[in-house]
Amino acid sequence: MPSVNPANLLGLQYRQEASALPWRGPIWDVHAHINDVESARLFFQAADAFGIERVWSQQPYDQLDALRAEFGERIQFIAVPDYFRRNEPDTFTTNWLKRIEQFAAKGARCCKFWAAPRGRDLTPHLSLDTPIRREGMRLARSLGMMFMTHVGDPDTWFATLYRDANKYGTKPHQYEPLERLLDEFGDVPWIGAHMAGDPEHLDHLQDLLDRHANLYLDCSATKWMVRELSKHPLEFRSFVQRNPGRVLFGSDIVASKADMSFDLFASRYWALRTLLETDHDGPSPIVDPDLKMVDPSMPADSSPRLRGAKLDPASLGMLYHGAAKRLMRF
Ligand SMILES: [Zn+2]
Repeated sequence: MPSVNPANLLGLQYRQEASALPWRGPIWDVHAHINDVESARLFFQAADAFGIERVWSQQPYDQLDALRAEFGERIQFIAVPDYFRRNEPDTFTTNWLKRIEQFAAKGARCCKFWAAPRGRDLTPHLSLDTPIRREGMRLARSLGMMFMTHVGDPDTWFATLYRDANKYGTKPHQYEPLERLLDEFGDVPWIGAHMAGDPEHLDHLQDLLDRHANLYLDCSATKWMVRELSKHPLEFRSFVQRNPGRVLFGSDIVASKADMSFDLFASRYWALRTLLETDHDGPSPIVDPDLKMVDPSMPADSSPRLRGAKLDPASLGMLYHGAAKRLMRF
């Protein structure tokens, strides 16, 4: 028996599947992690197959020149701290401020402020509204950058990994600093990664969008989006239609030498595009470990049901590239 491929449970030929998807226009992926040139070459093969014209990537600063030399304007950089030296005392303080300036000098137009609850296990500096973070935000704004944040995490994690609410806070707690900062930096476009951390509750996202005109969302984190948006595809379609220009396409693909394969990258684009463009209803080809984490009786290689939202062409055009192009003019 061949071992299970967690990125391709169904044995799909992803290149052929790509050519069968309906959308023919450009697609910009505003949320990926392309860590080095070697994995980038394989990543862009999958990107080519799925019509991904441009990628906004978060990666180590020392890779920028090599990535730019080989991939040119096709890759845009998002500023991030140096997570490889996460145990150095200045990585999230003075070194981070220096990084923001260095990324800006290399043309980065977006600065990421990662604030997942698990960041607190690493350092208190990764909470969203610490003094050093605010300093970083003021600096990034002065350099003409927009912001991206990861706030929250899946409901499945708050039910398991984050059960200790004294340590991590509840899920609603995560949005209190975000809302304060959205107002404080109301002149800066602000992308809430992974549907601002709450694809489970589109009514909450609608409330956030209605009250914060500078907030945008990206639909990255494939397993999470497929699992949760497939539970309410029609509601998701209405949500996107009601908020043109506010939802952007992202994958959260991590390309690194340590873990790379064509199917790994292609599976994310196939699943997200199928979710967005079609009315597909069937098992996702990607193993989702959260299913067993929440219900230990589930097999380890379980995958959720993928139910497509079949967005209309105008909504797809805005989500796939129109919204990102507008933000690039900021
Ligand atoms: Zn990411």
